Amino acid sequence: MPEPRVPGSGDSLQLPCGERVHPCDLDLGMRAYDCSCGETHAVVTDAHPLTRFVPEALVDSLQEVVETEDRFDQFTTAHALAMVHEEFPDQVARGDCADDGQVGYALVWVAGFDPRSLHRVVVELLVELMNHAVEHAGNDAAVREFEAQLAQFDVAAFVDAYRREREFDTPV
Ligand SMILES: [Zn+2]
Repeated sequence: MPEPRVPGSGDSLQLPCGERVHPCDLDLGMRAYDCSCGETHAVVTDAHPLTRFVPEALVDSLQEVVETEDRFDQFTTAHALAMVHEEFPDQVARGDCADDGQVGYALVWVAGFDPRSLHRVVVELLVELMNHAVEHAGNDAAVREFEAQLAQFDVAAFVDAYRREREFDTPV
């Protein structure tokens, strides 16, 4: 069966659920996609700040301790989503709109996860990354302190509180 021709350029993106969407037709402000499969999929673009997922202070720490080996000189949302993609290749579809120029983002990820579940996955991966970075730095006191903090850290509770707070600040 031929695919319906979508206006604009490029190919449509196959989502983890099997549905298709054109990656450049998603809205810059969109954080969730109500899919025709009946699920709500998390949507992230490289234009979204990392503070969508974690507080400014943690973003600062990440950017301080994590070395990136690409054209970005700092750890960004694109790196975080690349980690999710690596961990769950079947659950994340990535679209490229760099040539579109109209939409305000270059990369877009649509997850099989709903927005809250994706948020938890991102926070878990970032915490793990921080842990590795701290261990790599080889400062035993810092490692112990970070691990003590980690032991008390409840990802689900954090994500719920953060989402409540952010939605209160910037209703979407
Ligand atoms: Zn779907």
